[in-house]
Amino acid sequence: MEFNKGQKIIGIRVLRDNVIWLWKNSNSAVVIDPALSQPVVEYLKANNLNLEAILQTHHHSDHIGGTKELIKEWPNVKVIASVKEKDRIPFQNLSVRDGDKIRLLDNEVQIIEVMGHTKSHIAFYFNNNFPVLFIGDTLFSAGCGRVFEGTYKQMYNSLRKIKLLPKNTLIYCAHEYTKSNLLWAIDLEPENQNIKNKLKEVEKKLSLNELTIPFLLDEEMKINLFLRAKNLKEFTFLRANKDSWV
Ligand SMILES: [Zn+2]
Repeated sequence: MEFNKGQKIIGIRVLRDNVIWLWKNSNSAVVIDPALSQPVVEYLKANNLNLEAILQTHHHSDHIGGTKELIKEWPNVKVIASVKEKDRIPFQNLSVRDGDKIRLLDNEVQIIEVMGHTKSHIAFYFNNNFPVLFIGDTLFSAGCGRVFEGTYKQMYNSLRKIKLLPKNTLIYCAHEYTKSNLLWAIDLEPENQNIKNKLKEVEKKLSLNELTIPFLLDEEMKINLFLRAKNLKEFTFLRANKDSWV
């Protein structure tokens, strides 16, 4: 799929299963949740790109670990994070809240608060020829984030917000967890053909060393048991079941 004005998003795999997303045009880039700085610096310098902004979905170290070093390299970079995280993401210089709109790479980007994984997790949404969502650790392909600080109800409501987005939204999450999520889902729904097909597709991609993300919201609706949960009770059962699954 092609963005308007030749824009692109590329993923850099780092640490065990993190993915750093770089959204770029021909001279600038925006990085989402830089776990590390070095691969980002290398890529941007090799491609002669200025770092315009760093987007932080939440404060966990595998999302903000590279930010300080990136600020040293690009002192004018905008560091965009939740206003509720001034203590835990102290280097933020553009604080945002739910519903705010900011301009990045000539696009209007909307902030959507999605609590549950943490008490102030945010997502970034924009539409550039097709809709895009950077969702951090709230939703994964075939899975969702653990409920660390928030409540099950908050996480359930966050997933409901995601479901209201256009069905062709392309979702970029921060971890490559798809295969293990699908194995769990098959344990619960062994007859689900959609999940079986997806597992085959995912195993093929992984064998070719490709990422299994981003993913499309409408395809995800067929295979993600968390998105399909009919009510809070069902969601809570699934989340607890997944937490204890080995
Ligand atoms: Zn996290």
